[in-house]
Amino acid sequence: MSEPSTTQILDNSSSENPVFVFMFDFDHTLVDENTDTFVFQDLKPEMMTDLKNWRHSGLSWTNVMRKVFEKLLSTCTVQQVTEWMEKCPISEKTVEFLKEINKCGHEINIISDSNMFFISTILEKHQIRECISNIHTNTTLVDQQKNTIDITEYSVAFNKPHTCETCPENMCKGEIVKEIMNYHLSPHPHHTPNIQFIYCGDGKNDFCACKQLRSIDLALPRKDFTLEKVIESRPTEVSCQIKLWNSFEHLNEIILEQLKEKSQ
Ligand SMILES: [Mg+2]
Ligand SMILES: [Zn+2]
Repeated sequence: MSEPSTTQILDNSSSENPVFVFMFDFDHTLVDENTDTFVFQDLKPEMMTDLKNWRHSGLSWTNVMRKVFEKLLSTCTVQQVTEWMEKCPISEKTVEFLKEINKCGHEINIISDSNMFFISTILEKHQIRECISNIHTNTTLVDQQKNTIDITEYSVAFNKPHTCETCPENMCKGEIVKEIMNYHLSPHPHHTPNIQFIYCGDGKNDFCACKQLRSIDLALPRKDFTLEKVIESRPTEVSCQIKLWNSFEHLNEIILEQLKEKSQ
């Protein structure tokens, strides 16, 4: 098996001048799972206890994932782990809106604290990897022969240390959003006036991302998840428009509606 791409360079842009730049979190946003725990749920369910112990011992999340891979691969093959990850469910509505956004020539970014191995495996299984322009996440090096999966923090792999106090050490999603916005808003030959940035997520670490959006931009927090509650408790820190979604059908409707409005 070839190593999933670790690049985050614009390598798959469907258009040079998108009207919308979508940014999606992955876990509980594009898939309805926590990929970090899904990976061992069936293969080694007893690892949930290990996971709790590793967390309590003060290990960073990436170090916990290193241990997860180590323990999992002591009895399973990389191939088995890959096949299991391919079973991670993704709503057909999610597949539909990703394809539609891509077809309309807009840009799609994934900004996730999961990792490249999980994300690419799932997207490739559903043949939607090519819809995504950029994946910003922790990198992975998969070695089938040695039967190892090495994970490296996003901040280390791309030399992006940050000083944000609200984000975990390995990744500040706000910094990534700022970088994407600056790229599109700085004057260049394909600069699109009226470009709109749309960020969709569910978790606490998506708050910093939403804070970067302008008043004409849109945040799509998942209803009844942490991000909604954080925004509610700190409303003055977010200046963009906000629409909540409560199912993948609902999210699909909101996105298709948005695409339709701009094409009229
Ligand atoms: Mg999430
Ligand atoms: Zn941050």
